[in-house]
Amino acid sequence: MQPFTYQRVDSVAAARAALLAQPDAHVIAGGTTLLDLMKAGVEHPAVVIDINALPLGAIEVTPDRVRIGALARNSDVADDATIAREFPVLAQALAAGASGQLRNMATVGGNLLQRTRCTYFRDNVSRCNKREPGSGCDARGGIHRMHAVLGTSDACIATHASDMCVALAAVNARIVVMRAGGEARVSMDEFYRLPEDTPERETALEHGDVIVAVELEPAPLYRRSQYLKLRDRASYEFALVSAGACLDFADDGTIARASLALGGVATVPWRASDAEQMLEGATPSHELFRHAADAAFTGARTLPQNAFKVELAKRAIVRVLSTLAEGAA
Ligand SMILES: Cc1cc2nc3c(=O)[nH]c(=O)nc-3n(C[C@H](O)[C@H](O)[C@H](O)COP(=O)(O)OP(=O)(O)OC[C@H]3O[C@@H](n4cnc5c(N)ncnc54)[C@H](O)[C@@H]3O)c2cc1C
Ligand code: SF4
Repeated sequence: MQPFTYQRVDSVAAARAALLAQPDAHVIAGGTTLLDLMKAGVEHPAVVIDINALPLGAIEVTPDRVRIGALARNSDVADDATIAREFPVLAQALAAGASGQLRNMATVGGNLLQRTRCTYFRDNVSRCNKREPGSGCDARGGIHRMHAVLGTSDACIATHASDMCVALAAVNARIVVMRAGGEARVSMDEFYRLPEDTPERETALEHGDVIVAVELEPAPLYRRSQYLKLRDRASYEFALVSAGACLDFADDGTIARASLALGGVATVPWRASDAEQMLEGATPSHELFRHAADAAFTGARTLPQNAFKVELAKRAIVRVLSTLAEGAA
């Protein structure tokens, strides 16, 4: 690990000033992503700015909004009664992530910015366009069983690893960022960038920006929601595929509104808009759910080892939608 300077700050303004004073500075929250990558030599900030003293740990509930502070721990958000009632998909996604110890350390802000688990990115020796732009991508011709089939580019096929972010995409969360000019609210779609030719640029954040919160608007749609994560072992493992879904039904039993997001299969938390359009206004059935699942993967680009994800994810979608529909019947 390279030497670095450690600095504590006690306000968002101080965090921003410290970041802007040094182009190679990173904030640290729970440290469960950043420290791993520093030890591996993948990240090497000259200055590490500890933001844990900032007053950003609360979950504030008002009638029309839930504001989750960026320093709220993943375990606290998963256990919160309002989140469990209004956004079950989020509570379930968080509880399915990592291990108990990690969830106690990991923060919402850090989870949004966790890096890919692509082995070639993390080993610090392979060719990797994300770590070293222009160097190539050893995953394509290497072991890519865990890699993405949606949103990929010739430059990068790395999967976005977060469970929480899939749920946040499904419930139309807004990320609140403190930047020059004050607080800005950014949708999940706007926040995450597809890899295209610049996989090293993962989000819309600029240097100096600090995530201060995530905001959610309660709605009947999100109250009937579920997260399903399929993985190689039952706990402490990243998703092979995951689906976060929300369904709201009209009085005649048709689907009034649908929201579907996917994890483990895409380079960013993936919103399955084509599938949603197929679901809305239709009568729930196994056939409808299967057609929606097919629609979600029409643009998939597979490689020999990860092609299995397409069928696995389709089955996960059908299962999560069927469970929600059965619960409503
Ligand atoms: C062994 C292991 C297993 C895991 N399994 C899973 C899993 O199954 N599912 C899953 O979803 N995740 C999993 N994770 C990832 C874990 O959820 C993340 O490491 C964690 O959420 C990161 O949060 P943190 O607070 O520790 O981030 P940190 O490591 O402190 O920071 C991560 C990044 O975010 C930046 N940052 C942090 N806070 C802010 C802020 N407020 N504003 C701007 N930038 C900020 C930092 O500068 C850094 O670049 C696993 C991690 C490990 C180590
Ligand atoms: S998939 Fe992306 S992160 Fe992995 S080696 Fe290729 S460029 Fe790097």
